Order: sequence, then structure tokens, then C-alpha cells
Amino acid sequence: MQSVALAVAEAVAAEPSRDAADGHVAAVSAEPVTAARSRVAADGHVAAVSADGVTRRYGEGETAVDALRGVSLSVARGELVAVMGPSGSGKSTLLHILAGLDKATSGEAYIGGRAVSGLDDEGLTSLRRRKVGFVFQFFNLLPMLSAEQNVALPLKLAGEEIDRGWVDEVIGKVGLSDRREHRPAELSGGQQQRVAIGRALITRPSILFADEPTGNLDSKAGREILELLRSCVAEYGQTILTVTHEPRVCTVADRILILADGLIVRELDHVSSGEVRSAIDALER
Ligand code: ADP
Repeated sequence: MQSVALAVAEAVAAEPSRDAADGHVAAVSAEPVTAARSRVAADGHVAAVSADGVTRRYGEGETAVDALRGVSLSVARGELVAVMGPSGSGKSTLLHILAGLDKATSGEAYIGGRAVSGLDDEGLTSLRRRKVGFVFQFFNLLPMLSAEQNVALPLKLAGEEIDRGWVDEVIGKVGLSDRREHRPAELSGGQQQRVAIGRALITRPSILFADEPTGNLDSKAGREILELLRSCVAEYGQTILTVTHEPRVCTVADRILILADGLIVRELDHVSSGEVRSAIDALER
């Protein structure tokens, strides 16, 4: 196993490339971790995404809300991790901070070992455009663009040359080869979410964040989307962190982190969807 010191040096010295992907399983540290250690997954490699004692307070004084109260986690490259928890437990806040869309009040989030708070505006734009991909509950596709144009949009926005072969591969991967000319209004919900996943993959992001990706889909389409996410991990070594209310995520996730009142209170793996449902129900009662 690579030493922790070496892995930290790698994280600090240079942004690691996707080729360094290892696909091993990381741990959520139940114990306090040092800032350096939090960047390292359990296997000693630089984590794809991690958090070290992240807090987020909205507002001030008596009306202040502590949405996150000290969250530390580490997701290894090639891992699919689901974050679940009751409404208001801080899931969206956590996702936004990890993705550089919001700032932690204290603590730090890291993408590929790089502190997100240390990025300037240019660095943040690059992070959002190239390093992270997003999938949302309501797809957020541009209605006037075809499926293919929506998929290729991030490359256009980043001013990159469009690699036709890669666009074709991604469209095939998400199962839309025969729908590429269709506009979103001409596609089912499941197909629209496939377009959104293609759009998220097209920049070969270090990590794909999904916020309730099955929340607006029927049961069958939801299951297919979960399977598609899993196959992105299997085929591309894609790292995925998803927030979800869907207990069946246990069929595709390596681990499930349960968030309650701004803290990770449990980690589940190798559990049935019934056990996931019970764990969430117990917190909601
Ligand atoms: P979840 O995604 O688990 O439903 P959120 O992260 O959306 O939880 O919210 C966590 C807590 O932070 C909730 O109490 C919510 O009301 C509060 N909160 C979220 N966003 C804001 C905001 N912009 N201003 C004030 N409070 C907020």
C-alpha cells in the first residue's frame, strides 16, 4: 500500500490525473482526522473527494441554522457512495460544498486532494466546468437543444474541441443513439435523465455529483438510471456521490452514508433496501 506521506505529497504537489484512479474503497473516518489525512482514502491513495470537519451555518445569531456540524468523509476513485437522510439533514448543503458551489463555514472540502476554498474564481470555474459533473432531479436540460447538443454543451462552454468519437461513445453509453436528434420535450423522463448523465460524463469529470437523480422518475426508469450510474463506475472507473431518498440505491452503491441533523451518523454497506428504509424511518420518527 502506498504510504500516507507519499499520498499526501502527491496531493499537495500536483493535481493528480484521472489516470491515477485506483478504484479502491475508502472509509468514512469516525474519528477526528487531520487535514492531511482527510485527503487520503483508506487505501492510501488521494481521495477523489473528501471533507474534513465541514460545518455550514446559515444566518447569524438566534436564527442561525447549523446545516452541517462537522462532516468528515472520504470517497475513493471509482467508488459510488450514496448520502441519505431525513429532509433537512444537510444533504444538499453537503453536496454543494463538496462541488464548490457553496462555501463551508469551517473545515475544508477537497477534490482530488486540492482544497476547494483555496481556488480563485478561475479555479472554481474550471472545477465546475471540467472536474465535476452534475445530475439534477429535474434534469436541467436546455429545451431548444437536441439530446446530442445537450450532451456536448459542457465542451462548447469550456471552449474545447468536440471529440466526435467520444460524444458518440457517451451517447451510446447512456442508451440514446436512436434519440440523439430529439429535443427534451420529445423524450421520456428516464431518457431526459440519460441525456443529463451524458452531459455530466462528457468532460470526463473526476467526480459526478447526483442530486436525487431518480426523484422525478417512475420505479422502472429510476432503477434503470441507478444501473446506468453503476455501469459508469464499472466501465469508466467513474467516482459518483449521489444524494437520494431511494432505498434501492443499496443495489448499486458501495456505501451509504446516513446524515442526520448535520452529522454523518451511520455508514451502511451490504444491506437490503428494507434495512436502508428502516434506518431512515428510525431517524424520521
Ligand atoms: P436536505 O438536503 O437534507 O433536505 P438541506 O441541506 O437543504 O437539507 O438543509 C439543511 C438545513 O439548512 C435545513 O434546516 C434547511 O432549512 C437549512 N437551509 C438550507 N439552505 C438554507 C439557506 N439558504 N438559508 C437558510 N437555511 C438554509
